[in-house]
Amino acid sequence: MTSPHIVWFRQDLRLHDQPALLEAAQAGPVIPVYILDDETPGDWRIGGAQRWWLHHSLTSLGKDLEALGSRLILRRGSAVAAIRALVEETGAEQVHAIRHYEPWWRAAEDELSDVLTLHDGNHLARPECVTTGGGKPFRIYSAFWKGLQGHMPPAHPLDAPDRLDAPEAWPKGEALAEWKLLPTRPDWSTGFGQDWEPGEAAARERMADFGAKASAYDTARNMPSEEGSSRLSPHLHFGEVSPRAVWHSLDRHGDTETFRKELAWRDFTDGVVMALPDYADRNGREAFDRLPWRTGKAAEADLKAWQTGRTGYPIVDAGMRQLWTTGWMHNRVRMIAASFLIKHLLIDWREGERWFWDCLVDADYGNNSVNWQWVAGTGIDANMFGRIMAPLSQSEKFDAGDYIRQWVPELRGLPDAVIHDPEEAGRRPKGYPAKIIGHREGRERALAAGQAVRG
Ligand code: FAD
Repeated sequence: MTSPHIVWFRQDLRLHDQPALLEAAQAGPVIPVYILDDETPGDWRIGGAQRWWLHHSLTSLGKDLEALGSRLILRRGSAVAAIRALVEETGAEQVHAIRHYEPWWRAAEDELSDVLTLHDGNHLARPECVTTGGGKPFRIYSAFWKGLQGHMPPAHPLDAPDRLDAPEAWPKGEALAEWKLLPTRPDWSTGFGQDWEPGEAAARERMADFGAKASAYDTARNMPSEEGSSRLSPHLHFGEVSPRAVWHSLDRHGDTETFRKELAWRDFTDGVVMALPDYADRNGREAFDRLPWRTGKAAEADLKAWQTGRTGYPIVDAGMRQLWTTGWMHNRVRMIAASFLIKHLLIDWREGERWFWDCLVDADYGNNSVNWQWVAGTGIDANMFGRIMAPLSQSEKFDAGDYIRQWVPELRGLPDAVIHDPEEAGRRPKGYPAKIIGHREGRERALAAGQAVRG
C-alpha cells in the first residue's frame, strides 16, 4: 500500500500551476485539504467579505477536484493541530504546500517543518531572493523592480494534473455549509454576486479577457468609472490564478510593462512583511508613534461617516459605497479615501486598514498594510506624511462624474460642473450630508499634527 500525500491548500485554490499538488500527484495517492483557521491569525482572521468569496471558491475547487477523481477535505481549527491529526489518521508520508508570507503562516510552516514540503508558486520570484546587495529586502519599490529584473521572466506556469489517485480510505471532513461563511441576517452580499464569480475557471477567463485590454492599461487604469484595470486582485489573493500565469498571459499583447510593474507590487509587499512581520500593526517609522491621532466621540462619528460613505465628499463617499456594495474599490479611489481618513480626519491609518480588511474581497496582509502605510507616509518607504491628496481636485481629474453618479444616487441629477463639490456650488441635495470637515481646515490640522512628529 502506498502512503498518501496531503496537499494543504490555503491562498492557492487552483489546479493549474500548483506545484504542491503536482508533486504530491506524482508521488502517489493525494488527500487535498483546506483548514478554516480562525485561531492562528489572531486579529487577522479572514474578514467578512472574504468569507463570502472563500465559500464559493472552495465550492469550485471541490468540484474541480471531483472531476479528477478526488475530493476536498475540510477541517476547522488550528491549522498545525489539524495537519498533525490528519497525518496521524491517514499515515500520510508528506504534506505539500505553497509557501506563504503572512507571519502566522510562516510560524505554522516552521512548526510543521518535520512533515511539510514547501513549494514556490504564489510570487513572480521568491521574496527571499529579491534583496539589496546587503541581502536586505528593498524599501523602495522602484529599486525592488530593478532588482526583480534579474529574475524575470518567471518560469512558465505548470499544467494541472490530469488525474489524482485517491487514498484507500478518505479521512472525515466537515460540510462547507456548516461553516456559515455566507452572510444571512442581513445578507449584504447581493452586489457581490453581480460583480464577481469566484473560482479558478472564472479567474482564468478574466485573465484571458484582460489580455486584449492590457496595453491600454497605462491610461485606462486611473479612471474609476471605466473597467481599465484587470480586477484580478481577489483571484490573485486566493490564488485562483498564479502571478506567473498572469505574467505569461500577456506575452503576445504588446507593451504591458505598466501592468507588469503593478503585478510585481504583490511580490514587493510580501518582501516587506517578511522583513517586518508586524507591519500591519506598527508604524514603519517609529517617530510616527508620537503622532496625535484623534480619538473620542467626535472622531468615532467621523470614522462612522467615512465607513458608511457619508462624509460630504462625493468621490470619497462613492468609493466607500462601492466597497460596501461590491467588496472592491478602484485603486485611485482607495488612495483618495485612505488619504482623507488619515489626513483630513486625522484618524489612525490602522482603523481604515481594519475596515478594508473586513470589507475587501481582495484583503491581503501585505498589500493592505503596505498600501495603507504608503498613503499615511508612516512606512519604511520615502513617502511623506505631509503629502496630502486634495479630494476635490483628484475627483475632477479622474472622474467625469459618472463614477459618483453610479455610487451616490442622491447626486445623480447634478451636472458635471457641480457634482464634485455640490456644497460649494450651493447645490447640495436634501439627504446628502454637508462636508464633515473643510478641505483647508483638515489639511492644516494634519500638517500641524505632522509637526509633532518632527518636533
Ligand atoms: P490591477 O491594476 O489590474 O493590478 C493587477 C494586480 O496587481 C492586482 O490584482 C494586485 O494583485 C496587484 N497590485 C496592483 N496594485 C497594487 C498595489 N498598489 N499594491 C499591491 N498589489 C497591487 N490590493 C490588494 O490586493 N489587497 C489589499 O488588501 C489592498 N489594499 C489596499 C489598500 C489601500 C489603501 C490602497 C491604496 C491599495 C490597496 N491595494 C490592495 C492595492 C490596489 O488598490 C489593488 O490591488 C487594485 O485596486 C486591485 O484591482 P485590480 O486587480 O484591477 O488591479
